[in-house]
Amino acid sequence: MPEGDAVYRTAARLRGALDGRPLTRSDFRVPRHATADLTGRQVITTLSRGKHLLTRIEGDLTVHTHLRMEGSWLVSETGRRIPPGDQVRLILANERWQAVGVRLGMVDLVRTDGEARLVGHLGPDLLGPDWDPDEAVRRLRGAPGRTIGEALLDQRNLAGIGTIYRAETLFLRGIWPWRRVGEIEDLAGLVSLAQRLLAANKGHAGTVTTGDRRPANQTWVYGRAGRPCRRCGTRISRGEMGAQPQERLILWCAGCQPR
Ligand SMILES: [Zn+2]
Repeated sequence: MPEGDAVYRTAARLRGALDGRPLTRSDFRVPRHATADLTGRQVITTLSRGKHLLTRIEGDLTVHTHLRMEGSWLVSETGRRIPPGDQVRLILANERWQAVGVRLGMVDLVRTDGEARLVGHLGPDLLGPDWDPDEAVRRLRGAPGRTIGEALLDQRNLAGIGTIYRAETLFLRGIWPWRRVGEIEDLAGLVSLAQRLLAANKGHAGTVTTGDRRPANQTWVYGRAGRPCRRCGTRISRGEMGAQPQERLILWCAGCQPR
């Protein structure tokens, strides 16, 4: 599942292709907006908010998309082949570039002044201009009995973390994923580390939390179930937590992250 850093890069790619140019094609392949036509309108810009994308269009319109599990935006020169079948949800194109939204989890077209209804519930965006660690900590503390593993994925607390950054951040802080939020003394240190990890990866594909970009060495625990911990040699554990099916996966080291 794309996490905040991947969504941030997607927004940058869409800005490069669409900003400041009038649309020559808009093709919504979702029932609710099948008749919408944005042709002739200029794209103002695309912003990321946590894992959400907001493409603002001339005339007080915003296209809201979310990649969810396996969505992506493909950018290519206009006229290039578009993936066949029913996986394309939205095409936005200008004379030069086309952006094709494939398997998007959400596609909405709203008034720009109604964006808050879609993203207003989000906590501070780890990669946004509004990033505010104190506010993230305040929101986390609002439910002290919750497990920290679930709380970090709740985008109402802070926006942008998925299963990879959850696992890696908790490993690096030595925190067992089922520990209660109220039992963690240094929540500020925890959220600041998560922010630094996402920021360090926002400029390139892939997730490197070890500082070592070689493919087999990029993470501490994520993708390493059953293999020895890089610090203590204990085999990395794999389990499930939380209610959302796509967000259950958790990896941890029982040696470095004791109960
Ligand atoms: Zn370990």
